[in-house]
Amino acid sequence: MTEDLIVNEIEKNKEVYINFLRELIQTDSYNPPGNEKNVAIKIQDYLNSSGIKSEIFPFGENRANLIAYLNDNFHGKNLLYNGHMDVVPPGSEEEWKYSPLSAFVKKNKYLFGRGATDMKSGLAAMVIALKILKDLNINVSGNLILNAVADEETGGNFGTKWCLENKLTHFKIDFTVIGEPTGLDPLPKSIMLGEKGRVVVKLVTHGISTHASWPFMGKNAIYMMSEIIEKLEKLGEYIPSIKPPFSINQLKKLLSNAFPNEEVFEKILAEQPMLQSILKALTNFTISLTVIHGGIKDNVIPDKCEAFIDMRLLPGQKVESIINGLKRLIKEDLGYEIANDSKTKSNDISVGIELIQQSEGSFWKDWENDATLEALKNIIEEIYKKKSFYLIYPASQDAQFIRNGGYCPATISFGPGSGSSAHAANEFVEIKDFLNSIKVYALFAYKFIK
Ligand SMILES: [Zn+2]
Repeated sequence: MTEDLIVNEIEKNKEVYINFLRELIQTDSYNPPGNEKNVAIKIQDYLNSSGIKSEIFPFGENRANLIAYLNDNFHGKNLLYNGHMDVVPPGSEEEWKYSPLSAFVKKNKYLFGRGATDMKSGLAAMVIALKILKDLNINVSGNLILNAVADEETGGNFGTKWCLENKLTHFKIDFTVIGEPTGLDPLPKSIMLGEKGRVVVKLVTHGISTHASWPFMGKNAIYMMSEIIEKLEKLGEYIPSIKPPFSINQLKKLLSNAFPNEEVFEKILAEQPMLQSILKALTNFTISLTVIHGGIKDNVIPDKCEAFIDMRLLPGQKVESIINGLKRLIKEDLGYEIANDSKTKSNDISVGIELIQQSEGSFWKDWENDATLEALKNIIEEIYKKKSFYLIYPASQDAQFIRNGGYCPATISFGPGSGSSAHAANEFVEIKDFLNSIKVYALFAYKFIK
């Protein structure tokens, strides 16, 4: 049977696959600045050795996206595998036990390095799955398209969004898998059906500076900011209310599918503050004040204060309505002019709103009873020998471009690694998890396009 052929091929080549993953981790693609072209070239070389056609689309300084196809037929079912090549910078290297670019293998069980989880393991596994289908010369009626992208960690406009708008427009995509890590320790593997969006704004209060001995002459910009901060919670009332894709009870039900029964799940939930916090995040719009700067000297009334607000949107919430809500809060409730308005002069008492990052959430609405999704879940459970479950992702992701742009609503995330290790020092992936994901990607692709 073809399935056995695929599994045997993976068992036979484990070491080669681990080495390929190590090579990708050792290739610097910290973003910023990016340097994803380094990784794209490695992938292209690897695919070339099997005669798989791929194209690199360079941009900027040593940056690039890559697209590869199993064959030249796009008239059957098209399956898209998407994975990002960039990784977040390592932060303070002293916190790392093994150098972030070392791809150190510990006890044949763990692989350490920046991107081990997010998401060079998922990306490598997708590349390998494509190569396996080609090497085994398996007969298929559809096509597997691999899109290795840049820029995910800094918004995705030059990566997934650019590829969809410029290179993937001429054929229909029937199903998409994004290889982001979907482990939530200590739970088994999840399949993500959607994700939250993210809006970051920088607020700047402009007051009037004066000597601290006669403060009445000035306008303290830090006090202005503190008034805004106190009101921030009210923003929720100023934006259209929206139902989360799943209620807390629905989420609990989805999660408890991975456990023998609901009682066992409730017991675990009660002991896991992290999990409780995720459930709360998945059902609410959240606002967090994350950075604040103000003041220059202990005897000077400050004329400027800056704050960054990180807001996480439920699928369906619009960036525009969040900004309008903020303006209303600052203008109508607190009576301050908005600095970016053309009427305001630069030395007026005012508040500036600068949009630093924006991505909307997304969700695959018709997931229930979808036969393809069920087939994928069955393969995951068979390979991992554990029940899996559906969920939505608390952080933002490239999936929004694929779903919201109308390219392919049937988009899910599934991949090796655990969310808690992503972006952290000593990031790692379990080697078994990585090898399992190759099996899942290869078997699912075969089943979908055969
Ligand atoms: Zn990622």
